[in-house]
Amino acid sequence: MRIGVNSGSLPRHLHALERESPVEALVSAAAEFVALMERLDFEDFKVSIKSTNVPNTIASNRLLAARIPYPLHLGITEAGTKWSGSLKSAVGLGTLLADGIGDTIRISLSTFHAEEEVKVAWEILKALHLRERGPVLIACPTCGRLQFDMDTVVTEIERRLEAYEDPIEVAVLGCAVNGIGEAAHADFGITGAKNEGLVFSRGKPLRKVPQDQLVETLFAEIDKYVASKRIDVKDADAAEGARWLARIEAENAGELTPERIAAMEAAAAAAAEPAVPLDEAVSPVAGRRFTRT
Ligand code: SF4
Repeated sequence: MRIGVNSGSLPRHLHALERESPVEALVSAAAEFVALMERLDFEDFKVSIKSTNVPNTIASNRLLAARIPYPLHLGITEAGTKWSGSLKSAVGLGTLLADGIGDTIRISLSTFHAEEEVKVAWEILKALHLRERGPVLIACPTCGRLQFDMDTVVTEIERRLEAYEDPIEVAVLGCAVNGIGEAAHADFGITGAKNEGLVFSRGKPLRKVPQDQLVETLFAEIDKYVASKRIDVKDADAAEGARWLARIEAENAGELTPERIAAMEAAAAAAAEPAVPLDEAVSPVAGRRFTRT
């Protein structure tokens, strides 16, 4: 059984406290329901505190988790549209789940398609590595070096991946200038340059194809893997892909891409002596890439 409170329907005797401290009022209401259940000698329940306010949801669930030993159900009530509600839920529930708080979750979106709520819930759990289910798609943020229509391609890949259950990671890199090392952890990926593109797997080229065949070839490789649980590497194709990639990298060796700048900064930070530890108690600015002013 689920018991609990919603910020819109607190018991009347807590309204004064709610005006003073909404978080304390929510926690008090939930604690009162828990006490009632215990007086009835019934302990097979979980507790939820729901609010449309993300900070209040986080604070009240943290307080409640410290006060009661029962499982907690998390949700941001009336979170909003698919876009804004997903973000609010990810921030609120993600923060609590990352703290180890929460046993079940519900995403509440303004949509007639309830499956969208389930998809968002899974994405939150997958992002925190709390559950593995279905593919994970990663994609570069794009920049001026973008070599193909990422928006369309990523959207199509995301849609097609919904049909798969294997927990594979698929990467889409907007250009091959950085090589494919950035996505070396991905089970499969694509990148492109000058009307051509590369399908790669776990940091190694699989095959070079015309750019308009990238997505189909990617899914052909994924399908082979799903069926056989092994990556099908054809040596000649892989070697041709590696040569193509080496040529693209050589042609763009001097370019300062976002990834290369980040790598240079990381190398400079690692070489700096002594390393400045990040410690809020000592200084809120020392060691940060961007200082707080
Ligand atoms: S340089 Fe990086 S961010 Fe820019 S398109 Fe290439 S992979 Fe994407």
